[in-house]
Amino acid sequence: MRLWIKDPLAILAPEAERGVVVEGAEIVECVGRGGTPAAPFGATFDASRHVVLPGLVNTHHHFYQTLTRAHPAGFGKELIPWLMAMERVWDRMTPEALRIAARMALVELLLSGCTTAADHHNLFPPGLENAIDIEVEEAKALGLRMTVTRGSMGISERDGGLQPDSIVQDSDAILQDSERVLKLFHDPRRGAMIRVALAPCSPLAVPQRVMTGSAELAERYDARLHCHLCQSLDEDAYAVQAFGKRSVDLLEDAGWIGPQTWVAHGIHFNDEEIVRLGHVGVGVAHCAAADMAFGMGVCPTFDLEAAGMPVGLGVDGSASNDSSNMMEAVRHSLMLARLRYGPAAITPLDAFRWATEGSARCLGRDDIGAIAPGMQADLALYRLDEPRFSGAQDPIAALALCGAHRADRVMVAGRWRVIDGAPEGIDLEALIASHKAAAKAFA
Ligand SMILES: [Zn+2]
Repeated sequence: MRLWIKDPLAILAPEAERGVVVEGAEIVECVGRGGTPAAPFGATFDASRHVVLPGLVNTHHHFYQTLTRAHPAGFGKELIPWLMAMERVWDRMTPEALRIAARMALVELLLSGCTTAADHHNLFPPGLENAIDIEVEEAKALGLRMTVTRGSMGISERDGGLQPDSIVQDSDAILQDSERVLKLFHDPRRGAMIRVALAPCSPLAVPQRVMTGSAELAERYDARLHCHLCQSLDEDAYAVQAFGKRSVDLLEDAGWIGPQTWVAHGIHFNDEEIVRLGHVGVGVAHCAAADMAFGMGVCPTFDLEAAGMPVGLGVDGSASNDSSNMMEAVRHSLMLARLRYGPAAITPLDAFRWATEGSARCLGRDDIGAIAPGMQADLALYRLDEPRFSGAQDPIAALALCGAHRADRVMVAGRWRVIDGAPEGIDLEALIASHKAAAKAFA
């Protein structure tokens, strides 16, 4: 049945003033000013009180961290001491706890208007070998589109690394499970609901064999590669001291420098690296909240884009953000870019471009991130009837500038997954109660 989402208050799409027509999982028509749908439609949705955006796309997260938000073990610490302290909390993660953590992260994202999520799951203590399977099950149950990244950590304290022995895996186990989940879950086709990417935590956190082996597997299965890169100045200092090379060069040695790769943070590239990465289109998941939380510096978003690098947004893990709200990520990225480039250089539309088209490019997708015929029907609809919007003149800019927080309606692949601000099929109060109860084990 064709559904006309009719007469939006505003819509982030060209020549769609009278809305869009959805059929099955796709947008089939944009209806311009003064027009009506070209083909008969079976239903209408009155969007006259809604601002319609393409569904937001999150490119970096750590779902399990929703159980350790605002955790005192992390207070007052720089990035590495924070990570070392928190990893000794996270190593208690169980399959049951991960399931409830993922469900909460997905619901939060969805309620903020996110329709596609990428999660960097890199925590595999004994007993949690099926972490990727759990995340796939939860995304399918909720109806979010997802790139689940099979993360890994392979160098522990025993080998001179930072991670506790309890959460690292050996290279064979990492690569075998990477191939297992690619075979089981990865769908490279247009319109896919689940894709798998391979994501060693960073080139410094795994043996080189895991980096090269991941690149080979990604090529064989037409999948993508992801890791943290150039988040802190310390990282490159360590890479040079330990390996005699900067981290971008380690990535190059492993066969990762290509359009199949997107990295998280990407703050501290030098000029030559930006040219090199831009030439081949390596993407960056810009995680403004976490970058500010740790005083990491300001991602050179416009310079990266000018060089040819796709820039998307990520909320990053809920122990550093400490929320999973994609509209907050839009606002944070807008304000942070103004700090670097000045108020004349960036508008809310730039931040929305990052959260939609840019994020979609990071995930290697040309079927999401925009409202146009042939694109997947992933839409986020917001109402401007909260006090924070009262008096706003430009409805789309208002979402970013006044701080929209919650979508009223969210559609993924043509199905409403949020109706009247509530996630379909989820008892939110019960979810919060069970999530809070699970978090007690991580105090
Ligand atoms: Zn991260």
